Amino acid sequence: MKLEKQSLDILKKALDKMEEGFSNLPEVDYQYDYAAIEEAVLETAERMKDNYPYFHPFYCGQMLKPPHPAARTAYMLSMWLNPNNHALDGGRASSQMEKEAVAEIARMFGWGTHLGHLCGGGTMANLEALWIAGKLNPDKLIIASEMAHYTHSRISEVLKLKFKPIPANSKGQMDINALEEILKTEEAGTVVATIATTGTGSVDPLPEIMKLKEKYGFRVHADAAYGGYFTLLDNLPPGARATYDELKMVDSIVVDPHKHGLQPYGCGCIIFRDPSVGKYYKHDSPYTYFSSNELHLGEISLECSRPGAAAVGLWTTLKLLPMVKGGQFAADLSRCREAALDMAEIIKADNRLRLLMEPETDIVTWAPAAQTGREISRLSQEIFEKAAENNLHLATFKFPSSLLRDQWTGVKFEDEYTLCLRCCLMKPEHKEWMDNIWGIIDLVTGEVTGNK
Ligand SMILES: *Cc1c(COP(=O)(O)O)cnc(C)c1O
Repeated sequence: MKLEKQSLDILKKALDKMEEGFSNLPEVDYQYDYAAIEEAVLETAERMKDNYPYFHPFYCGQMLKPPHPAARTAYMLSMWLNPNNHALDGGRASSQMEKEAVAEIARMFGWGTHLGHLCGGGTMANLEALWIAGKLNPDKLIIASEMAHYTHSRISEVLKLKFKPIPANSKGQMDINALEEILKTEEAGTVVATIATTGTGSVDPLPEIMKLKEKYGFRVHADAAYGGYFTLLDNLPPGARATYDELKMVDSIVVDPHKHGLQPYGCGCIIFRDPSVGKYYKHDSPYTYFSSNELHLGEISLECSRPGAAAVGLWTTLKLLPMVKGGQFAADLSRCREAALDMAEIIKADNRLRLLMEPETDIVTWAPAAQTGREISRLSQEIFEKAAENNLHLATFKFPSSLLRDQWTGVKFEDEYTLCLRCCLMKPEHKEWMDNIWGIIDLVTGEVTGNK
């Protein structure tokens, strides 16, 4: 296959245009050794061959999605200036673009007023959310489901906040009864609802969590790093739809434009519903903020220097593909979900395999049928490896055996976790490629199980 290179012509045109903005400056005679640069970069290209083909539909393992050519081109364009969105001094246009892009993300969830900014990724974004959670309720618990991203327990440790994981149900969602049991005896400061878990793409039941919030009083933080954009879809199951419709009622939301938002890495986003939490960020910086009285992003963010390029890439993508229901962005994301639904149907019809759960977003989890958990783990690992030999890249996933026991009666589970198979169908092309993808899974499942 060939890599997309047509956008390089656009990059050249855009550089010429941006250059016009600096035509009043005297020429600089750059003294670079281009032959040496070429040698170094070609050596890099050689090294970079040793990667999985993340951009290809045959890669459907982890959460890796190619950035849109528009995002990539705009990001590269801004590299010639290298703006820093810490302060308006370092990134004037790009800071403004960041404010506009973040406002659009807030609007996608139904928020007009908000406080928020871009940051390095979901981890940084969640760190800020839990930092504010701790400022507001320093001695109370942070609660998340056992299927929440591990970053929440680790961040709680960094912030010295008390953290408690609670069980998930067999759909991979937070177990609401387990949540209420804890709330009866302990004071919760913040409940983290995961809006599409990293493992299975499951959506925690926000309407039920909000009912408990009424009764017990706590903050709700939505970790929608992966799943935030799915709010634009019209083909979600009713439970997930109800959760997305409730998202506007939470206190803070994290979404990663570098996961499903077509951006290069280094683009997470945190938004708070109540802008007054900005007071906790207050600091005196003797170094920056000379250029204007307008808000500098560094005044409402924990990170200092940040790539303005991330905001430029996102802003450009939003011009081309606005995050609106019924738009092209939503249609493309919808195809990812359709691919997952197609795959789930194929798995259900195959007696060699078992679906772990109906996909709520675009992640499919399944396992080969066997008598014991260890045998399931062994077969999963072999299918994973054999598929890779055939250029199809899946992922494995350690699923809590306790969640399988109830549904797969008759199977003996020896260990706490059982290795299962997992696909993140994050590319719209996965829909059209499903026959090819399944052709390989079918083949290697036959080889590994001896049942063709
Ligand atoms: C990916 C992910 C994170 C971590 O985000 P990074 O961008 O990798 O730092 C946190 N929570 C969820 C639900 C995620 O899917």
